[in-house]
Amino acid sequence: MDLFTGDDDILNLESKLALLEGTPRLAVLVSLAWHLRQRHCARAKELADEATLLLARAANDDAWFRRNMARLALVHAEINWLRGELEFAEHYCYEAKHAFLEFKDLTGVGDCYFLQSSIKRDLGQITERDQCLQSAIDIYQGIGDQERLQIAIARSLHNSAMREPQRCRADIDQFQKEVPDPAPAVLAWLLSAKAIVANKIGDMGESCRMHVIAHQAAFQTGQIRQAILTATNAGDSFATLGDLDAALEWDEIALALARQNNWPGSLATALLQTGNALRLLHRYSDAREKLVESLAVQAKIPGSRTYAHTLSYLGDLALDLGSPEDALAFFQSAEEKILEHNEPVFLSDCWRGQAIALCRMGNAELAHQKIQNALQVAQDQQNLDEQIKCYRVLAELSRKSHCNLAEQINEPTLSLHFLLKAYELCSSIKDVTIPADLIEDIANSYADLGDFKNAFHYARIAAKAKESRRLIDAQNRAVALQVKHDNERHRAEAEHLRRIALSEAERAANLQESSNTLETLGLIGREITANLNAEAVFESLHRHVNDLLDASSFAISLLTHDGNALQCVFGMENGEPIPSFTTPIDHPVSSFARCARERQEFVLEREPGTQGRFIIPGTAETLSLLYTPLMIGERLLGVMSIQSIRPHVYGERERSILRTLAAYGAIALDNAYAYKQLQATLETLRETQNQLEEVSITDPLTGMRNRRFLLQNIEADVARVLRTYEDQIEAGQDEAQNDEDIVFFMVDLDHFKSVNDTYGHACGDMVLIQMRDRLARVFRESDYLIRWGGEEFLVVARSCNRRDAPTVAERIRHITSSTSFNLIDDIEIHRTCSVGYASFPFLPGQPHLLTWAQVVNFADQGLYMVKKSGRNACIGISHVEGTHSEDFYNRVMRHPQNAAEAGLIHIIKQKSATDEIDLTTISAS
Ligand code: GH3
Ligand code: MG
Ligand code: MG
Repeated sequence: MDLFTGDDDILNLESKLALLEGTPRLAVLVSLAWHLRQRHCARAKELADEATLLLARAANDDAWFRRNMARLALVHAEINWLRGELEFAEHYCYEAKHAFLEFKDLTGVGDCYFLQSSIKRDLGQITERDQCLQSAIDIYQGIGDQERLQIAIARSLHNSAMREPQRCRADIDQFQKEVPDPAPAVLAWLLSAKAIVANKIGDMGESCRMHVIAHQAAFQTGQIRQAILTATNAGDSFATLGDLDAALEWDEIALALARQNNWPGSLATALLQTGNALRLLHRYSDAREKLVESLAVQAKIPGSRTYAHTLSYLGDLALDLGSPEDALAFFQSAEEKILEHNEPVFLSDCWRGQAIALCRMGNAELAHQKIQNALQVAQDQQNLDEQIKCYRVLAELSRKSHCNLAEQINEPTLSLHFLLKAYELCSSIKDVTIPADLIEDIANSYADLGDFKNAFHYARIAAKAKESRRLIDAQNRAVALQVKHDNERHRAEAEHLRRIALSEAERAANLQESSNTLETLGLIGREITANLNAEAVFESLHRHVNDLLDASSFAISLLTHDGNALQCVFGMENGEPIPSFTTPIDHPVSSFARCARERQEFVLEREPGTQGRFIIPGTAETLSLLYTPLMIGERLLGVMSIQSIRPHVYGERERSILRTLAAYGAIALDNAYAYKQLQATLETLRETQNQLEEVSITDPLTGMRNRRFLLQNIEADVARVLRTYEDQIEAGQDEAQNDEDIVFFMVDLDHFKSVNDTYGHACGDMVLIQMRDRLARVFRESDYLIRWGGEEFLVVARSCNRRDAPTVAERIRHITSSTSFNLIDDIEIHRTCSVGYASFPFLPGQPHLLTWAQVVNFADQGLYMVKKSGRNACIGISHVEGTHSEDFYNRVMRHPQNAAEAGLIHIIKQKSATDEIDLTTISAS
């Protein structure tokens, strides 16, 4: 991570951040918080807080986590420093340094020292300031981070420029030889150092230019504190140049930036410079106001050198206002403060101020002492400007009082002596125009002494000086104009960049929002279209509309089947259902009808209390209304509407969301409708199929089952029975316990043909139908009554015990013969029937030997035997214990009587024509 970065990088980071969600934001968050620490404290703090939260959640790698936390602590430290909360700043800085050291992040440690140096500066601890900066330099050098190293060295040059301009100048030249093309972050300090040096050695034009470029470099690399300082220094240089307008302009730039950020350190400096410029413009009360405000904002940081400067400027102001006592007090306070700062030139300034104040107060002796001290420092420092100022004070002092000086003088008066010394020094400075008032003072002194030759000579020089002053003023104006131009361009550029940044951030945010919305809509679409039920679709649409849009009411109206009206099928307002309503499609006022006719979405904006509006009774008066058609291709299904009680809430974004929801909704509703249709059709089909099925297994005349039915069902019964028998055989149980036999009864009406012949076919049919009722009375519902042939029936008694078979057969026979059949015209006839029967499995010991169909044939054999033996009787064919061979069936079928005699079967015969059941077994025995 760079120490400082350009505005382009900030834009990149902002765009990146806008597209990230959750933990992946972390790295960008930390970077951005770091680089916004001076550009935008509040936002940097917000980002740092978000990053802290995310880090706490994703704390899986301790070292990585702690290093990032340390960087965030450093962000907080710097913000505290800028806000003048120096104790907090030191605390956070210490915390960060500790963590960086623990995880061997030396870059971080260096950055901590770099910031600590700034904190020490504001604490007025100049030695510590320089020590910290030196530590930063050593660390950056150790890790080979060239840009950081260059920034830190340039900053140390900047620090020494004020104190030792000459030496600094040489150092700067050396640095520039080694680093011919420094990065902007380095230039912010290097050019500032150059500007200060130029100011100190009297090259004010160069100083102004350097300050302005340094200011731009600082601003663009996010070193806002330094940008404010350079603007202030530019103001100072312009003031020295004599262009007070330009000075004020730069001071105002600094002041605006400082006020915007409300950083006490910067604000104090800017106020101080502005106050001084105003003083020089003789706007004394404005000047005083600014200087006093400067002192006030420094309440938190009274140790800074700015505080001392402010006091000194207040001293100058008091002198201008003719209050030497106040001035003395200010200069003395300034002296106390400045002693801590090791700035000899400034100390000389304080003493000179005290000397002037003392002189004007009449304390010549003390004044003299002070000015001598001041001169001594100025000479030690080779500061010509300060020396000249001191000589002029000495001249003033000498005029006012006669004091004994050890100094050898050639001039007639001491005052003239000092004036000429000042003049001499001025002349020695390259490119400096000697102040005309100094020369005039000399001329006047000569005139006072009656030396008109010299007086005239200096008067002429003074005139020339004024002339060249005018030239210089003109040049200054040109310089000022140029600087002003640069400044305006810079401001325009900054504004341009700011706008780009804003629009970029906006674009990124929009992009993020639309990509989020698209993603959400995709998911919603899938959810809505997954519903196959219209109600669920309405609910789903309603829920998502509420989540995504401002909609106090929501309604869906669907086209009626004839297409002539819209029926509101779903309507909700603030969670309450809206009563259903129907609107003719040609309704002149209804917006639902209009939307259906035009098949176009539209937004309506209403003023409260609009006339001629239809509002559904019991619903609120909405001010924003959005209608959208529900369409499948060209086919209109209905209209969906959302409304809000707030005005102007539906813009392009809202319309596009509702449009998308409507598209999904229409598909889902169409699906639901198609699904409903399909369900109905399937239901009809199923019924028809059941009916067909029923028909195919039912005898149309009697309603009894037919052979097809038997074939479909008998196998399952047979399987169950066989399973039971197998289980029993396996368990060695007695077969007599078994109620799981199937008994087949074959029933045939006797001489039925004669019914037809006598009463007609229809009467025959009636007999057959009534036969069904009789059989139904004998058997259980679960038994199968089957019309086997013309007047022949097969009854399948299920879950039955074979021992009961003769009794049941007899009951068939009995119920047939004992009750009369009713024919048309109230004719009653009596009929009898014959019954043959057999049980399955035929052989309990060998259940698989005969199939059910073979057993039916045995029953048929029984019936045949009854017919042969005279009818109206029952014959059962039953098994005999023992094991039988494969040809058992054929033998029985060929000749049942012989088989019975051979002991293969029992033939159970019941006596006919009697209601008493008399079981006679015809068998070989
Ligand atoms: P048996 O005692 O030997 O059974 O004499 P039967 O007359 O009952 O038997 P036969 O097989 O000689 O005649 C059966 C008659 O049943 C012949 C036929 O016309 C009549 N029949 C068959 N199906 C129907 C029907 O659906 N309705 C009517 N009315 N008669 C039918
Ligand atoms: Mg018959
Ligand atoms: Mg028959």
